Amino acid sequence: MIRPIVKFGDPVLARKAEPVAEVTGEIRQLVDDMIETMYAAPGVGLAAPQIGVPLRICVIDISGGRRGGQVITLINPEFVERTGMQLEEEGCLSVPGYNATVARPERAVVRGLDREGQPVTIEGTGLLARALQHELDHLDGTLFLNRLRGLPRDLIIRKIRKQQRSGAW
Ligand SMILES: [Zn+2]
Repeated sequence: MIRPIVKFGDPVLARKAEPVAEVTGEIRQLVDDMIETMYAAPGVGLAAPQIGVPLRICVIDISGGRRGGQVITLINPEFVERTGMQLEEEGCLSVPGYNATVARPERAVVRGLDREGQPVTIEGTGLLARALQHELDHLDGTLFLNRLRGLPRDLIIRKIRKQQRSGAW
């Protein structure tokens, strides 16, 4: 089932999400809904808080669903390692219409549980490393906007506030 994606301004996006106690059928259903919602958007990653669920779950497919079986599910993920630095444009399904250059480590290793509740370790460079960090940030209530400095950030937030006031957000 495709779920509505919440946008910047919703408090669920600003709070720290709770760990999943047990990977049940209900959690697997939630994961499947997240994957369907991500592909429909379309996007390359989605975190549970983005559909209003404050749990530590994210899904990533940097092929955007073009290559079958590429989807990564991470439950209770945590960083094992982060190295290097990359500067690339980034956007977010919860901040539609805005992109900005964000500094991120070039390589990331993340450990968590998969959809079946089995331990999994994912290592990514480039876009995958960026997606891993973007989605794990969501689980701690951080948006890419929070990673921007001064003027670029203020400019985007000012434009969003204007859209919010006019009901266009
Ligand atoms: Zn996002």
